[in-house]
Amino acid sequence: MERRNTRVIKVGNVLIGGDNPISVQSMTNTVTKDVENTVKQILSLEEAGCDIIRSAITDIDDAKAIVEIKERINIPIMADIQYDYRLALESIRYGIDGLRLNPGNIGSLDKVREVVKACKDKGISIRVGVNSGSIKQEFLDKYNGVNENSMVYSALEQIRLLEDMDFNLIKISLKASNVPLTIKAYEKMSKIVDYPMHLGITEAGPIWRGTVKSSVGIGSLLSMGIGDTIRISLTGDPVEEVKVGREILKSLDLLRDGLEIISCPTCGRTHIDLIKIVEDAEKRLEGIGKHIKVAIMGCAVNGPGEAREADIGIAGGHGEGLIFKKGKIIKKVKESELLDELIKEIEKM
Ligand code: SF4
Repeated sequence: MERRNTRVIKVGNVLIGGDNPISVQSMTNTVTKDVENTVKQILSLEEAGCDIIRSAITDIDDAKAIVEIKERINIPIMADIQYDYRLALESIRYGIDGLRLNPGNIGSLDKVREVVKACKDKGISIRVGVNSGSIKQEFLDKYNGVNENSMVYSALEQIRLLEDMDFNLIKISLKASNVPLTIKAYEKMSKIVDYPMHLGITEAGPIWRGTVKSSVGIGSLLSMGIGDTIRISLTGDPVEEVKVGREILKSLDLLRDGLEIISCPTCGRTHIDLIKIVEDAEKRLEGIGKHIKVAIMGCAVNGPGEAREADIGIAGGHGEGLIFKKGKIIKKVKESELLDELIKEIEKM
């Protein structure tokens, strides 16, 4: 798949757009000024592979907390600003790496100009975005309700405001909870401007439903070459958002990092507790720090052959199982020792 050529911006030390790796973002759900809990959450997100974090800045104490948070984390942090331009300025003053705001929401042109100047001085980028639920009435009237046109032209109004001030460190989001609408909106926008795109399906829902919706929506766009950074929105632990985001990228070969597990769906030939083995393997191999594809297959009849592209794998049998590498059997072990043996072999790789 050919990736759309976009401009490059940066958030801290993470480059977004062009042919830079597609980054995975998430958002803290702690009270930002509660530095202990915010840092704790960000560190666990980092461990899961989060590239950029965003936190809500709701008052001056949240903005002040940025200094201490930044000292204790290792990834760039963005400020999510709703309406108060002073909080954008304070966030910049306290060292924020990027802003998420819509210039049209923060007041007069003078206020926007002040924020833009502060961003320019420090090379800070701004994410401009429209959610299907927050399109201005004027655009809903003009384009007959919520659709890709009202979303795109509403976002373009925000973008033009910044461009008129000679500012183009911009990335764009166009999120809806409806997957086809989200896809159409990003597709349309990507034909109009070449700013990098931040992909997401908003209010996607609880973990498994949200995972399916996000995978279909974001996966479709990425496979069309659209998208430079992604955020999965789930009602749950943000660590799950990062895990899902990374798996989406891995499934499209857009991320070659860490563990990839392939496993068979089981059938009447399965005589081992494959589901439990897969669950245990996932836990024990998490954070392995090697890019490795592991196959966990139910039987020796089809397992090693079907999982030929895996670096290493196991195939169950009756009370015993096989360990294989690149489709070739290397050892036969007791069922109870299968997982331990697999892990030993992986450690040697
Ligand atoms: Fe069935 Fe074997 Fe295929 Fe698994 S690998 S689904 S056990 S035939």
